[in-house]
Amino acid sequence: MKTNIVTPALRNIKIEDPLFAHYTDMIAEKLLPYQWEVLNDRLPEVEKSYCVRNFRIAAGELEGERLGAVFCDTDAYKWLETLAFCLESGRGREFEATADELIELIGRAQEEDGYLNTYFSVCHPERKWRNLTEGHELYCAGHLVEAAVAYFGATGKKRLLDIAVRFSDLICRIFGQGEGQIKGYAGHQEIELALIKLSRVTGNKAYAEKARYFLDIRGQKPNYLVEELKRTGKDRIFPEFADYDALYAQSYLLPVSQTTAEGHAVRAMYMYSAMADVAREFGDNEMKNACRRLWQNVTEKRMYITGGIGSSGHLERFTADYDLPNDRMYCESCASVGLMMFGQRMAALSGDARYYDIVEKALCNTVLAGISAEGDRYFYVNPLELWPDNCLAGTSMAHVKSVRQSWFGVACCPSNIARTLASLGQYIYAQDEKSVYINQLISSSLETVIKDARVKLRLGSALMDKNRFSLSIEADRPQSFTIRIRIPEYLENPVFVLEGREIAPVIENGYAVVAVSHAGTQTLEVTGRIKPRWMAANTNVRADLGRLALMYGPYVYCLEETDNGKLLSNVFVSADTAVSVGKAVDALPGDLPSLSFEGKRLESGLGDKLYGEPAFSFSSQQFSAVPYALWCNREPGEMLVWLKATV
Ligand SMILES: [Zn+2]
Repeated sequence: MKTNIVTPALRNIKIEDPLFAHYTDMIAEKLLPYQWEVLNDRLPEVEKSYCVRNFRIAAGELEGERLGAVFCDTDAYKWLETLAFCLESGRGREFEATADELIELIGRAQEEDGYLNTYFSVCHPERKWRNLTEGHELYCAGHLVEAAVAYFGATGKKRLLDIAVRFSDLICRIFGQGEGQIKGYAGHQEIELALIKLSRVTGNKAYAEKARYFLDIRGQKPNYLVEELKRTGKDRIFPEFADYDALYAQSYLLPVSQTTAEGHAVRAMYMYSAMADVAREFGDNEMKNACRRLWQNVTEKRMYITGGIGSSGHLERFTADYDLPNDRMYCESCASVGLMMFGQRMAALSGDARYYDIVEKALCNTVLAGISAEGDRYFYVNPLELWPDNCLAGTSMAHVKSVRQSWFGVACCPSNIARTLASLGQYIYAQDEKSVYINQLISSSLETVIKDARVKLRLGSALMDKNRFSLSIEADRPQSFTIRIRIPEYLENPVFVLEGREIAPVIENGYAVVAVSHAGTQTLEVTGRIKPRWMAANTNVRADLGRLALMYGPYVYCLEETDNGKLLSNVFVSADTAVSVGKAVDALPGDLPSLSFEGKRLESGLGDKLYGEPAFSFSSQQFSAVPYALWCNREPGEMLVWLKATV
């Protein structure tokens, strides 16, 4: 069944939830100016981006060496995309003139034929399209296109869209199965989903066809990327690509034949997202089935309880089923952003709410944890267990940082989290001809048109403190449509009361379906029960065996040193330990409660001896847990999600 589920425009959505409004406000007010200063290298204590400077050099307006990561043009594109989402939501007007100037600069850096990439234009014009494995040209192009589509949608201004179209037209001419065309594809996927967006906004199907081409040719033998890497060996951009294999960029098989999540986690998520787009665009059931299999493998075998993915610190990649180490994994913020993108597309493809369970898990845990409450510090790597003393440079733990960083040499995550949270509304609401979908129970409002009725929805959620939410539905004329509300599995025994009368809505694909037919305002009240839950992992997850994690609603909780002292690894609890719901911590954003419980500390009885005969003893202690999403926003120190269990 083909669905026509689309996302309403952000301008019609208002976020009101205390936690999420904190982040969306902060992005418009603090993050945009902070990241703009970073992109211009104006903060002396912060790692240099070189991004804007590189565009000036490429435009011939500044002398100097082009510096920074090979793909750092995308910092500017994602900043523009974030701003576009803010503008569409009625925020960030003060940056529009700056953005227009940046867009003009980008335009001046574009070459005559449409080519646009500061690294190759300035440093290696002779190597254009000759190092797809490492060069990230198509990845940068994809982010340009996404920014352009968003900026056009927000402002109606076509300048950036024209730049993106010119470059995309060049890409369409350069790549393909025809004579004289390069029969290659992206070393880092991103162009594929971007071309689908461009196709939708321009109405030009050729872009969608090219997205499909990039997926169809991937995985054909001989492997284009592996063969290319042999040729470019001495010009290596990334030394770690000495360990490159066909799994790394998911080019080991045709995407449609892939069954397990392999290789670099961000690349995988962007490709799967594009596969879901292409499956929908072309009604391709084989592709849809591949997406389902890959989704299942990721979420049932290779995902952390926090929605983090990518178990290997080396090369940021997937490993084996159930291999989920807690302290030395990768769990890149961008990978969880990608998981949200993939889940959203799968839900649009299927009309099934269950995909949003995972979107919520990634959003409410890893994605929020990736950014500080003030918006100026970021985690690239998101551990579930942190002992700051062993996060040492020059070791296998060097990639794990004990505090969020002001910027990175490879800075994909900060702007990726920003654009995701700035467009949060698109993960809350969706609609088709006859239904509005409420996919996240985040307090917000939506104004839209269903059939010919103007409909206003206002969702007021008090789920985490009062275990209930209300929905006011206002239609300006009689019209029959349905509201589909995702009922998450953690909301037990929900009772639905419409206009004071209990109803029993049909539950379809995870949505409670409420029919509306008359004009005026109706109020739906839903009450249920959410309780703190001790969670275990599958027996095959060696890292978590004999351990318990604490969840409340979609939020995973963690212990922090600042509340509980050091050596969290000696804390034991039992699965029937009672948990009290307490007040929110004042120093943290939003109003999520803290949780407290009585646990035990284990002493080995060895004193200063490294090894010896055990003389175990337990002592009781009261512990306080906070949402993992908000960890490291107070005093830095140890952090732990999975506690040892007593049985
Ligand atoms: Zn990243």
